[in-house]
Amino acid sequence: MKIILPDNVKFIINKLQDAGFEAYAVGGCVRDVLLGKTPNDWDITTDASPYDVKPLFRRTIDTGIKHGTVTVMLNDEEHGYTGYEVTTYRIDGEYEDSRHPKEVIYTKDLKEDLKRRDFTINAMAYNDRTGLVDVFDGKKDLEKGIIRAVGDPVERFTEDALRILRAYRFAAQLGFSIDDDTVKAASLLKDNLRNISAERIQTEFTKLICSPHPEILFDMYSSGITSVILPELDLCMQTEQKNKHHLYNVGEHTIRAMMVNARYSEVEFDADTLRYIRYALLFHDFGKPEAMTEDENGARHFKGHAIVSDRIAREIMRRLKLDNDTINTVTALVKWHDHRPEPTKTNIRRAMNRIGESVYRLLFPIRVADTLAQSMYHREEKLAYEKEVMRLYTEIVSEKDPVSLKDLAVTGADLIEHGYRPGPEIGEKLKELLEIVLEDPKCNTKEYLLSKI
Ligand code: ATP
Ligand code: MG
Repeated sequence: MKIILPDNVKFIINKLQDAGFEAYAVGGCVRDVLLGKTPNDWDITTDASPYDVKPLFRRTIDTGIKHGTVTVMLNDEEHGYTGYEVTTYRIDGEYEDSRHPKEVIYTKDLKEDLKRRDFTINAMAYNDRTGLVDVFDGKKDLEKGIIRAVGDPVERFTEDALRILRAYRFAAQLGFSIDDDTVKAASLLKDNLRNISAERIQTEFTKLICSPHPEILFDMYSSGITSVILPELDLCMQTEQKNKHHLYNVGEHTIRAMMVNARYSEVEFDADTLRYIRYALLFHDFGKPEAMTEDENGARHFKGHAIVSDRIAREIMRRLKLDNDTINTVTALVKWHDHRPEPTKTNIRRAMNRIGESVYRLLFPIRVADTLAQSMYHREEKLAYEKEVMRLYTEIVSEKDPVSLKDLAVTGADLIEHGYRPGPEIGEKLKELLEIVLEDPKCNTKEYLLSKI
């Protein structure tokens, strides 16, 4: 079994071996290479202690020196400085509170280090001298597509409950299933997730919903995981819609909308955009249980749900300690997801102005995914509407129609020159002029606008 290691990784391993130590590439990078993927980062494990590692390299950072990790910084022409985490073989002592190992014990035995890792597919090591070290049959599980805890899953999830969420995260990223005993243990110990910090949960949860298989949320609902980390989804799963637009309950519709985005999106989004879209799809209807009314025919309506969803989305994202950019963008998308004015250029320019251009364009993939996760009722009409709005929007952008104050042909200074006193009335007047050009971009000339003041 031969793996091609990057030159920098080879360099670090050789350097440690030349100094008389063992060293291997380990964990996620070995898994990714065996899957034919490019690893995000390369981690190295060694029997050398941090104090033996540091003098061997010119630049190191004490990333987690108490836990045996130093980052070796290497320069290469292509990427500039890149960091490689080099961690001493260790046994994680007992975990105090589903969070922190009480103590970290170094060991000289690679097997002991692999034993502390979460899943068999993440517990393989490799170097050119020894080849693949795979004591827990991780390679076989990779081939079968199975996430399986290393050793006894109940013990492993008791030591660190975050592993429960990691199991679902890897299943969602890789399209794998989770081994039965591992699922049983996850379900049994799900409440320990309450002891895990919001930051750790959020990191895994974000990766999970941005993955190719957000449908993993169905499994997390059935095993009770969402009842602990996202009870709002459980409520949606228990809310039937009972109207002709919908086939599924609110929760199932939500997950299906995310799946549509994962499967059929024609564009590949950058990581930030993908995070905005997936979180917005997750939350877009979370206000429905609260906004629900039932008419005399037993049909259900959810008037004003987008505003309630906006509030709930903000609460959840604060709880998950998401950053402000994500919170603001996602809540804007949630708030406007159901806004469908008559498709005229004026209406679209107004919406672009009110919502902000960068957020506005993300509403297209959201509305399309939303529509495709509904019933067939009026589907053709709904999609035709999207197409028409997109066509008009594209024209507006290519013709560079003015849609915000910064596009206006006059500025505050122009108004002052024409007798306005500095102060709030200038802002008011500029907004008024903007309304004129939103309606008719041809009016956006200095001459015309100054004639209006
Ligand atoms: P990614 O590609 O997303 O970075 P990864 O497998 O590298 O995936 P990391 O969180 O970077 O995941 O962790 C690196 C390695 O450390 C894992 O492959 C695993 O062996 C081990 N590991 C990480 N977190 C845990 C944990 N909570 N419990 C046990 N082992 C863990
Ligand atoms: Mg990693």
